Parts: sequence; C-alpha cells; structure tokens
Amino acid sequence: MWPYHPELLATPVPRYTSFPTAAEFGDDVGAGDMASALASIGGDEPVSLYLHIPYCREICWYCGCNTGAANRTARVQAYLQRLGEEIDLIADALRGRGRVQRIAWGGGSPNALLADDFDRLMLRLKQAFRLDDPMVSIELDPRGFDARWAASLGLNKVRRASLGVQTFAPHIQRAIGRVQPTQEIASAMAHLRGAGVESVNFDLMYGLPGQTAGDLRDTLDQAVAMRPERLAVFGYAHVPHLLPRQRRIDATALPGAEERFAQAALAHRHLLDAGYQAIGFDHFAIPDDDIARAARDGTLRRNFQGFTEDGANVLIGLGASAISAFPGALLQNEKNAGRYHLRIANGRFATARGVRRSFADRLIGAAIEQLLCSGTAELRHLPGLTQVRARLDRFERAGLIGWFQDRLVLGEGALPYVRGIAAALDPYRADSQVRFSNAV
Ligand code: SF4
Repeated sequence: MWPYHPELLATPVPRYTSFPTAAEFGDDVGAGDMASALASIGGDEPVSLYLHIPYCREICWYCGCNTGAANRTARVQAYLQRLGEEIDLIADALRGRGRVQRIAWGGGSPNALLADDFDRLMLRLKQAFRLDDPMVSIELDPRGFDARWAASLGLNKVRRASLGVQTFAPHIQRAIGRVQPTQEIASAMAHLRGAGVESVNFDLMYGLPGQTAGDLRDTLDQAVAMRPERLAVFGYAHVPHLLPRQRRIDATALPGAEERFAQAALAHRHLLDAGYQAIGFDHFAIPDDDIARAARDGTLRRNFQGFTEDGANVLIGLGASAISAFPGALLQNEKNAGRYHLRIANGRFATARGVRRSFADRLIGAAIEQLLCSGTAELRHLPGLTQVRARLDRFERAGLIGWFQDRLVLGEGALPYVRGIAAALDPYRADSQVRFSNAV
C-alpha cells in the first residue's frame, strides 16, 4: 500500500514529457531554429515522426488536447493539404538524411479522417522520407472505427494502436461527455486484431466525476478481459480555467484528493495482480511487450507521447501544435490552424514557440528522464545539487527517497510522488500552481 502524504502532493507539477517543459516555451525561436536543427541530423541518424490530426468526431468535455470537431469537410481537407506540404517541406530540408524508424499518429483522433486520406498521407510519407521499416502507431477513437479503417491499418502495416477508453461505466461516460458502449470497444478490438495490430493500448482514467472505487475496479476488470498489451491510467486533471470545455463537468461530483490517491493505488495494484508490469508511474504492459522489456533492461525513455521504448534522439512533429524534439531545442508548430495554414502555404516551417536547450537543461532533462523511467538518477553533475538536495529533504524525511552518495533512489511507495520529486530537480518551477495538474 502506498503511504499517503497529502502535503507532498499539494503542489501541481508537470508531467515531464519534456525538459524544459512546455511552460518554458517562448516565442523567441522560429523557422531558423527548425532549419538548423534539421541540418544537424546525421545521414543515418534514427528519426521519429509525429503527425498531429487536430480533429475528432465529437469533443469530450474533459479533453486537454488541441482538437476540434471534424464537422466541416472543407476545413479538414485544407488542413490535410497543408500537412502534406509540410511533409515535403521537412523532407526537402533533410535531403535524404535520417532514417525514419517510427511514425506516430496522434491528435485529436486520426480516425476522424477518412481512411482514404490516411492512406494518401502514408503514401506521401513513404515517397518523401527514407523509411526504415518504421514502427507505425496510431491513437484511435473506438467510436466510428470500422472495417474500412481496420483495412487501412493492415495495408499500412500499423503495428500499434491506442484506444481512448477512459471508463466503461455508463453514468461516468455521460458525466464526461463521452458515451461509448462496451460493444463498440470490443468491436474495435476485434477489428484491430483482424488487421494484425500487435500491441493495443487502452487509456483509462481515475478521478472522474461520480467515479467510485467500485466503478474503477469494474472498468479495470473489463479492460483486462479484453487483453490489451498495454494500459495507461491517468488521473483526470480538472483545470477549467485553462480548458473551458471542462466547465461542463460537475466539479462537485469529483472525488477528493484522498479518494483520487486511493484510486491511483487501486489501479496500480489491480493491474499488477492481473499480470501487468508497471512502466514508469502510469503505464502498464504485459511482460513480453517491447516497452516492458525496455523498462527491465534500462532503455525506457520518456517523450511527448509518454513512456516509450523509442531510443531516437530526434522527433519531428508535423501538423498544428506538434512539437519537435532535438538534442539542442524543443520546437512547437503554430497551434492556431489559420496561422499554421498561412506559414506552410508560404513555404515556411510552422515553428512558432519553443526553447533552446542549454547544456544544463540537457543534464537536468536526462536526470529527470532517468528518475521517471528507472526510479533512480545519478545527480553528481547536476547544476545546483546542494539546493536540489535541500528541496528533496521533505521527501527524504517521509522515507520516499534515499541517497547513495549523489545517486538519488526512489524508495518503496514513492511512485505517486515521483513527479513532485522530479520537480525538485527543475530550477524553472516556481509558479506551478495554475499551470499543471495534481501529482496524482
Ligand atoms: S476523442 Fe480523444 S482527443 Fe478527441 S476530444 Fe475525446 S479525448 Fe479528446
């Protein structure tokens, strides 16, 4: 059982899918940074691609993604045209350098597109980049995922899919504006298996309005019965001041802090008992899935998609709001669809925000990534180590961390606190109250 220390969970903290985090992004970077970052990619360097589809069939009330309703065909088609042009723009800059080993489709819901459009974009990627038998993955909304889409996944050799499930409880589905009968999820699973998708992930949530421990247990049981290879279990972050669509959620029905903590612990225990291996602090996988192997052999990484076994140091993001990660910079495309269109139509990279990573940033980023992925980090060369140790003192007094000289090691029961522990390594954190979600 995890020990409960509410005072150590009181401060909202980043999810650390990058360092520096997106909160540190500024507008003093631009297309020139993107051009130099692309020019620095080596001839055979592994490269991962991420393509953002900012559309969904329906918008869920809790959603924090950059997405809108795909109800205007002309608007979606105009976006896809620009996305195709951006693919060519990036490929022209690379001039054949870089081997693409991963292609991840996210959003939004890529299957809000027509499967024909997906086929066309995959073909364009094949023509534009040097693909090296890439691992293709896709985020899917089970609602509307049909045989035609499954055929497209088979045709394009998509090997991984992530389904937005969240909860099987009908009363909670209604309370979060995402009604999807269990049969729809079962049917999506059957289509995915039929299409040869090797690894399926379910995204689930706790801390939802009206959700009880019993509801969560029932959802976990139903999920496990469908045998996804991976599960990710996230705490719902209620931040309506940042995400106006969340105002439709009844805040009075949300579980309190202690209940959320108990739900996170329940999910963790339940999935371990069901035979899954814990990956980082919120992912789970069957032991012979690639990500579970990576966690065991110390090669697990963390990027904008969460925990991953992707070892590439270069991730190129395509589409509105997509983030590219290079050793020396994190560069985000224009979020606003109109301005994204304009930049690409003018033949310019869509980079609008980001941060250049200093040497110190890289050291801190590597330490945070190590800590989140493996539960330990060597901090000998970390800038400001004395202050970091002082900030970590309260976690040490609670018995959640230990030190072996300058190596920080998480103790038993420290998993729910790990983002807070990571925040102690992060010199940028001072005004985190309004921008981030609860640590659990
Ligand atoms: S389907 Fe997914 S991306 Fe789209 S609104 Fe719902 S949660 Fe957000």
